[in-house]
Amino acid sequence: MADEQITTIGRCYGCKRTFSFIPASVTAVTIDPETGLPPGMTVLGTSREPTPEATDRSVEEPICPDCVNKAKQLREFMHPPALPFEKWQSNPGRD
Ligand SMILES: [Zn+2]
Repeated sequence: MADEQITTIGRCYGCKRTFSFIPASVTAVTIDPETGLPPGMTVLGTSREPTPEATDRSVEEPICPDCVNKAKQLREFMHPPALPFEKWQSNPGRD
């Protein structure tokens, strides 16, 4: 049973739902408890160099699979794939 993986219970940082996860493989974000944001990120959503104090007090917060999926969708929404080349090639413009 060397490969046995120990699950633990935690609260998702995204939706506050309690879920079980494997600590070694869970998606987690580093959060500065003082701001509730990742160290270096400001409340305005911009980032800057985190202070050593912020990095020191920051803790890893687990993210449940649902929120991981939502984050992926959000990322795809914000960064859509490049336009397919066909669109350009089929453009009946000058030859
Ligand atoms: Zn969640």
